[in-house]
Amino acid sequence: MRPVIWDDDEERVSDVRQAAQPCFQCGVCAASCPVFRVAPEFNPRIAVDEIVQTGTVAVTGREWYCAYCLMCEQRCPMGVALCEILVAIKNLSARDGKVPPSIVEMMDVIRFTGKVSHPSKGTTRRRRELGLPELPEVDAAEVQKLLEVTGAIDRLTRYREAECEPQ
Ligand code: SF4
Ligand code: SF4
Repeated sequence: MRPVIWDDDEERVSDVRQAAQPCFQCGVCAASCPVFRVAPEFNPRIAVDEIVQTGTVAVTGREWYCAYCLMCEQRCPMGVALCEILVAIKNLSARDGKVPPSIVEMMDVIRFTGKVSHPSKGTTRRRRELGLPELPEVDAAEVQKLLEVTGAIDRLTRYREAECEPQ
């Protein structure tokens, strides 16, 4: 897939570049990344290096592989905010319409229920055994309002329309 290079959104790209700047390419992030182990085409070290070297953000669609587990960021000796960098890349990717269908589905679920998933009975029982508090109820209407004011629903509608367009 041909990457889309973002260099017109100066503020966003400059924030991402600044966050990536301390990287000295040690590779600890890639070595810690559970996704890289099974999908080596996604490499957080290379994603950071491309930004530092070119001053642009290349959106390939692979950024969505990141599971936001935080392992890379916790282990980076330079304190590079890798997860935030990947979220910024995902945001640019979303603007480019590269959101995977599974993420669009997830947005739909959040829109109508206020959460990504319901905790299983096993999870609820385990939480009780550990003495953790009950999970709070979510007000789906409030979540929907947030999605409206941030423009997420508009975007979701556009993704849905694009899915229905003949290829
Ligand atoms: S762990 Fe940090 S310093 Fe090392 S390659 Fe990754 S981002 Fe760069
Ligand atoms: S946050 Fe993303 S890039 Fe970092 S280790 Fe987890 S999956 Fe890999």
